[in-house]
Amino acid sequence: MSSVLSERIEAIYRQVIARNPGEDEFHQAVKEVLESLGPVLVKYPEFSEQKIIERICEPERQIIFRVPWQDDHGEVHINRGFRVQFNSAIGPYKGGLRFHPSVYLGIIKFLGFEQLFKNALTGMPIGGGKGGSDFDPKGKTDGEVMRFCQSFMTELQRHLGEYVDVPAGDIGVGGREIGYLFGQYKRLTNRYESGVLTGKGIGWGGSLVRKEATGYGAVYFVREMLKARKNGLEGKTCVVSGAGNVAIYTMEKLQQLGAKVVACSDSQGIVIHERGIDLDLVKQLKEVERRRISDYAVRHKDARYIAGGNIWEIPCHVAMPSATQNELNGRDAKMLVRNGCIAVGEGANMPTTPEGVRVFLDANIAFGPGKAANAGGVATSALEMQQNASRDSWTFDYTEKKLDEIMTRIHADTHATAEEFGAPGNYVVGANIAGFIKVANAMVALGLI
Ligand code: NDP
Repeated sequence: MSSVLSERIEAIYRQVIARNPGEDEFHQAVKEVLESLGPVLVKYPEFSEQKIIERICEPERQIIFRVPWQDDHGEVHINRGFRVQFNSAIGPYKGGLRFHPSVYLGIIKFLGFEQLFKNALTGMPIGGGKGGSDFDPKGKTDGEVMRFCQSFMTELQRHLGEYVDVPAGDIGVGGREIGYLFGQYKRLTNRYESGVLTGKGIGWGGSLVRKEATGYGAVYFVREMLKARKNGLEGKTCVVSGAGNVAIYTMEKLQQLGAKVVACSDSQGIVIHERGIDLDLVKQLKEVERRRISDYAVRHKDARYIAGGNIWEIPCHVAMPSATQNELNGRDAKMLVRNGCIAVGEGANMPTTPEGVRVFLDANIAFGPGKAANAGGVATSALEMQQNASRDSWTFDYTEKKLDEIMTRIHADTHATAEEFGAPGNYVVGANIAGFIKVANAMVALGLI
């Protein structure tokens, strides 16, 4: 990259920081993408002339709203709701809703920014957006969660539509929450507009495989990375952080492909089970009983629970961070490399810190960034929208085959793009550039809007 170019990109980054103070996660996500873009601007000077990078870093619309609700005892609570409609150059805004006490604008913007490139990589006509609230569903009754979702949707509905903006789930938003949100949308609009939300239940507009898609897709991506290195998942020891939607179906597909998962976690601690994680029990604890992962070791006496433990200390061939952002740092990455890890697939969004990513790339580990590796969830959401639009529902096998094809193609595209731009084997560069070029070309074509 010429020094003029790097100065220009540096100046754009400084401007992003100045315009979005205190939004550390957003700064981090922008920096990671900008660092890849030097060679793109050399090849496509029109992107500079049209100030595409400056425009892409500024969301099209940011909505922040009050969400009042009452708990079971009649006490009033006030939460804050967000929807950031980042970019609609290639399709309606699409991206999940996160309910977690840590949510603030900077988290939603980082997720929305990542999402727009990820959605472009899927090859489907979906733009990028993200939303959520600082509401904590943990410890709340079903009635409280329902009242919160109804209040949240009462405001959000005016910004949604199957051709406008289509949310889905994320941390803290699963099938139960999507049901309450969809019900309220339907009531307020008097429309059975199935395509306005994805992650719906089977039987009321949902798609088979959507629940499994992010985890399964991440494993397919790792399978492809290993295949490119003449290796495979069979017999590999794996560690998966988290015990939520993404982690559970990551473990399921790893097990189906002959790997052994020896540990998983939640925000309180880690569980290690050398003979292999009993996934039925994890599903029972997390999907049905909504309990802590510590209960796993109460029911399996040969498993170990370590409160506050660090899952990356456990030796493994394949690590799949699937909980939350910045959960794997430089020190953890060094430990994984030292312990013989050969592949890392990010099921979560931005779970590895920049220092951690550098360690993996320097050690020539097969590293699949979230933007590419976890794109299977939103890709299957787009398949759900296709089924809704055609009033059809596909079989599990047919939908899973489509997911597999999409992930295999995302791997091939990011691999080829990395090679074309002089960074062979670097999927971070490949994903950032391939996603960016698609969105940038559409923005140029649509004019200055
Ligand atoms: P869930 O809410 O189902 O599960 C989240 C898991 O991560 C839980 O085990 C939770 O533990 C743990 N976790 C959450 N926050 C923290 C934290 N601050 N520190 C430590 N552990 C934490 O969410 P998902 O599985 O849907 O999402 C996981 C990740 O995958 C997120 O980064 C999300 O953005 C990403 N993702 C999700 C997609 C989807 O389709 N659902 C699609 C693409 C990416 P606890 O229960 O103790 O809080």
